[in-house]
Amino acid sequence: MKVRFREAKSIISKSNIPSIDYVINPYVGCQHGCIYCYAEFMIRFTGHKGDRWGEFLDIKEFNANKIKPERYHGKRILLSSVTDPYLPLEKKFQNTRQILERLVGTDAIISILTKSKLVVRDIDLFKKFKNIEVGISISTLDATFARKIERGASKPSDRLEAIRTISESGIQTYLFISPFFPEITDYQAIIEETVDYTHNYMFENLNFRPHNIPRIMSIIKGNQPDLIPKYQEIRKNERTYWDIIETEIRDYCEKRNLKYSIEFHHGGFSKS
Ligand code: SF4
Repeated sequence: MKVRFREAKSIISKSNIPSIDYVINPYVGCQHGCIYCYAEFMIRFTGHKGDRWGEFLDIKEFNANKIKPERYHGKRILLSSVTDPYLPLEKKFQNTRQILERLVGTDAIISILTKSKLVVRDIDLFKKFKNIEVGISISTLDATFARKIERGASKPSDRLEAIRTISESGIQTYLFISPFFPEITDYQAIIEETVDYTHNYMFENLNFRPHNIPRIMSIIKGNQPDLIPKYQEIRKNERTYWDIIETEIRDYCEKRNLKYSIEFHHGGFSKS
């Protein structure tokens, strides 16, 4: 892992994600190195040409005194959008923790999203916020497959344990079932494993992008070669496949009386 430091003029940035006002990315790069990652474009903009995603991390250096909690009243802040706030090196550098400490007192709605069990470290801090929700992102309960697609992230069982611990501490939680791998992501099993610890589910499909297609297809070929024709078919006709899955998810969540949102993007718009 190539680690270096970089000065960040501002650690809280305006967001162009719909429904999110600000994003906080305490690091540049991501040790989790997910094969499908959509943030990999960051390589081009951050002086990392030639580096591989998942193999470098820039620790942002910032002036914590510039963070003014009152500036974000009523706004929605996501932590994080192009990295994970609870990477293994967060244990040492604590950028995420420092930022949250400075934000205590804000009325902003803070949404944490992670694939790491380290998130439980900050439960004491989460309790100090009026509006905070902590989300765990997961695609599969299968530890072997998870290791192949998200080599640096916590095991699925550890993520489930984290959401349980956070929920039992009285913090609002959500589960982000993402990315949804066709024929692999068993969303019903994931819901049944977590429904005692959250009632709020979000779903996002696997987005095939030119940079991730070879890696995805290679993992599928090694893991479940029988799925290759199916994946090829889905890539040709994404809309039909995702529309069917979306309907299934909606029916299931409504039957189980769950709060849910479906963010399926496939060259068109999600029906929801
Ligand atoms: S945790 Fe998120 S940002 Fe990090 S590599 Fe995985 S998908 Fe990308």
